[in-house]
Amino acid sequence: MAIRNVRTDDNPVLREVCKEVTEVTNGIRKILDDMLETMYEKDGVGLAAPQIGIPKRMIVVDDREGNVFKLVNPVIIEEDGEQLSVEGCLSVPGFRGRCKRPMTVSLEAINENGEKVSIKAEGFLAVIFCHEIDHLNGILYKDKAVEFERVEDN
Ligand code: ZN
Repeated sequence: MAIRNVRTDDNPVLREVCKEVTEVTNGIRKILDDMLETMYEKDGVGLAAPQIGIPKRMIVVDDREGNVFKLVNPVIIEEDGEQLSVEGCLSVPGFRGRCKRPMTVSLEAINENGEKVSIKAEGFLAVIFCHEIDHLNGILYKDKAVEFERVEDN
């Protein structure tokens, strides 16, 4: 595994609509492992492939409550309820904000073994999935934040 360089701010790769992964190869598994290692090194709870400069539909998540995911081509198929999140982003360092997010989401994706998986998430985990899947569509949380403020530099 290797720690990758996290792209920030106005880097155009963060605005790309990412391409679907056609096959889960060893190369894809290596990228997922690198994403997870990079996320842990930066003390994040989620990371999307464009954040390390790869415009493909891949995300990793660890909500620090025992739920770890490495997902390819994730799609939200159902959402319900509403919550006001508190979010930051490794690609928008030094800021945090609040967004309106669904309270629960159901998604479908492919795992690192190439198997189709269905996931239901609520609360903080639902926020992370929404945030990371937005990255795959070139959307940053600050675009939809109802509050956005500078915090200490990180
Ligand atoms: Zn982010």
